[in-house]
Formats: sequence, structure tokens, C-alpha cells
Amino acid sequence: MEKKPFVTKEQLEEIARKHPTPFYLYDEKGIRENARRLNEAFAWNEGFKEYFAVKATPNPFILKLLQNEGCGTDCSSLTELMMSEACGFTGHEIMFSSNDTPPEEFALAGRLGAVINLDDITHIECLEKTLGTIPETVCCRYNPGGVFKISNNIMDNPGDAKYGMTGEQIREAYRILMEKGVKYFGIHSFLVSNTVTNEYYPMLAKILFELAVELKNETGADIRFINLSGGIGVPYHPDQEPNDIMVIGEGVRKAFEEILVPAGMGNVAIFTELGRFMLAPYGCLVTRAIHEKHTYKDYVGVDACAVNLMRPAMYGAYHHITVMGKENEPCTHKYDVAGSLCENNDKFAVDRMLPKVQKGDLLVIHDTGAHGFAMGYNYNGKLKSAELLLHEDGSVELIRRAETPEDYFATFDFCGMFQNTGK
Ligand SMILES: *Cc1c(COP(=O)(O)O)cnc(C)c1O
Repeated sequence: MEKKPFVTKEQLEEIARKHPTPFYLYDEKGIRENARRLNEAFAWNEGFKEYFAVKATPNPFILKLLQNEGCGTDCSSLTELMMSEACGFTGHEIMFSSNDTPPEEFALAGRLGAVINLDDITHIECLEKTLGTIPETVCCRYNPGGVFKISNNIMDNPGDAKYGMTGEQIREAYRILMEKGVKYFGIHSFLVSNTVTNEYYPMLAKILFELAVELKNETGADIRFINLSGGIGVPYHPDQEPNDIMVIGEGVRKAFEEILVPAGMGNVAIFTELGRFMLAPYGCLVTRAIHEKHTYKDYVGVDACAVNLMRPAMYGAYHHITVMGKENEPCTHKYDVAGSLCENNDKFAVDRMLPKVQKGDLLVIHDTGAHGFAMGYNYNGKLKSAELLLHEDGSVELIRRAETPEDYFATFDFCGMFQNTGK
């Protein structure tokens, strides 16, 4: 499918006059419409709720927007919990799905009344010690081990993943938790990320629904929800076929009616913890070509670098690039699109066919609304960019300012040593 930016070159040039590149731009309209489609796809399930994975795009404005569409938050760290609290999420609007969890994070999750999702059986003791008691509702994360296949394509190796409990452990955990007075239970599992197929969720649902029936029969536990977690992907490459969330919702409904309803569990709520699917296509990194270089290869040097978007450097991930204003020109030039880090993997694209790029051109790096800004770091003392939100009425709001050298130096305690430098 052809990838089109959600803004025009004229809009971007206008925005760039006020907010220098590089910056992230998010599309409120796209985010809202997609969240509504998700809710519609699962409207057959009375208790359905999406808990947005905060780590994907940890920005309060984005969280408030999703809250307004009925979403909760899924947190896995102290600051994500703090951000959720500050945005007004409370109690069971917060899912705490963490692993290797520091006790102080359980303490805050407990104080907020969040649903706590235990990654390991030994965390029961840690949780009880930290809170002094175990909450009435607890979720356990399951890892079936082995390999996970969809139509003969091996998708991933849960057996190699650090997350979750074995089948035996989750049964034991349920028994222990029941003895400790837990009344309501949930099951969670995350087997594969970025699946671009409509089959993943229905297959995962079948595994978890069957497990739920077994757990109920074996332990008598009152299972209230099943959390399908994240993992629905987006087509980063134009050749990929996007997921159809309506088909996915329908596939999960079918498994629900085949497995849970006959077992008398038709009141179980379905939860999701999507991050990428909720935001990735509705955010882009906007950067400007500032140099070109022709040596053994042809390079376009841009003003963003891997600290602004790590996925290409870290995973060799493909992100589509549009040279603004040249959408209809033929892609006749082969470029490496590079940032300025002293790291040869600081490239947003390698051997990418693009129209001829000139200094000053604006480049849109697509599908960076999730796991983009969020994975930023400060290598080479580079600073994180601003984040902007394009509202439905066309206005633009600064939702996080760019970092300044003062921010970078703020964690040194050198009594203002840097105050007069760089001026
Ligand atoms: C990362 C994560 C998610 C979100 O994953 P996406 O691939 O962005 O959908 C959800 N739940 C947990 C526990 C996670 O770690």
C-alpha cells in the first residue's frame, strides 16, 4: 500500500518555521479513528478495554487523548505509573505488566489500585511483603514455551523469552493466590510482537481461553479477564498488507464462543495492551537534509540521528521515507540516509531508492509514532527532539519541548559550571 504522509509539504514547512527540525509529529485524527475501530472490533465483548502500552509513546497528551477514547494504560515502570497517575488514570484503568519488578514499583501500583500482572510465581511473595497484603484481583502472565507457529511460519520462540510462568507454575500460582484470599483472576500472555497477520490474536486467544477453562476447572478460580497484550503489528513496508482489526476482533469472538461460552465463562472480559498498533502509523519523524556526500556510496545527511529513532540502527528496521514535495518524482537515486552519530549504524535507510534529494528537503520518516521517540537516548550528547500534535482542526500543539544542553547537563552537580558555555 502506498505510504502517504498525513501532512503536506506546505503544512510541514509552516510548522518547521516555528519548530525547528527534527521533530516528531502525531496525528490526532488518525489516533482517534484507529482507537474507535479497535473498540468497534471488540464491541461484542462487554468488558473490553484497551490498555495503551505507555512505553510505546510516553507522552501525557497522547495518554489523555486515548483516555478520551476509553483506553486505560499499561505500565511497566515507576515513571510510567507516575505519568498514568498524573493523567488521571486510577484503579483498574491501569494495568501493571512488568517483569523483574522492583518492590517500589509494586508499592506504587498497589497504592494506585492498578491491576497487577505477575510475571513470575516468586513475585507473589515480593508483592505480599511490599503491600502487606495481596490485592483482590491479580493477573498472571503465561508463557507456553516452545515455538509459536502461524501456518507453518515460525513466528517466535516463547521458550527463549524471559517473560511469564510455565503452565505448571501458573496453576500453582493460582492455588497460592486463592489461599491468600485473591478473589478475581486474569490471564495475560504476549508471544510475538509486530505481527502483520490477522491470525495472531485469534490463535493466542484460543490458547488462553483453553487455559482459562482448565484453570477454572482445576482450581475453581473466578477468572474475570483475559489480556491478549500487545503484538498486533503495522505494515512498515509498503508491500505489506495491513491487519484488519475487524477480522481480528471477529476471530477472537469465534474462539470466545467456541471455548469460553460453553464453559459458562461468557462474562470474561477481553483486554488488550496494544502500543504499536495504536500509535505507530499516526506519528512521523520529520527531519531535514543538511548535507550530501558522495564517496563509495551516496549519502544524504539529515539533522535527526539514531537517538531520535533507534529502530533502524538497533534492528535494521525498515521505515519508509518520503521526500516532501517529491512524492511523484521517480526514485532514481540510491542513498544511505545517515545521521551524525559516530556510529556507522546511524542510518535511517541503507541503499534506499529515493528521488534526488537536495539540501533543505524535508524528509518524513513514516510509522514512528510508537517505539520511536520513546527509545531515544543521549549518545554523543545528542538531544531529544520536540514532539508535536497535529489536532483535528489543523492546529499544532507542542506536547514536549526539545531537550536543551541545560537538560543534558542537569544531572551533573557542578555548580553551574556549564552555565556560560556554548553561548
Ligand atoms: C511492549 C509491550 C506491549 C506493547 O507491545 P506492542 O508491540 O507495542 O503492541 C504490551 N504489553 C507488554 C507487557 C509489553 O511489554
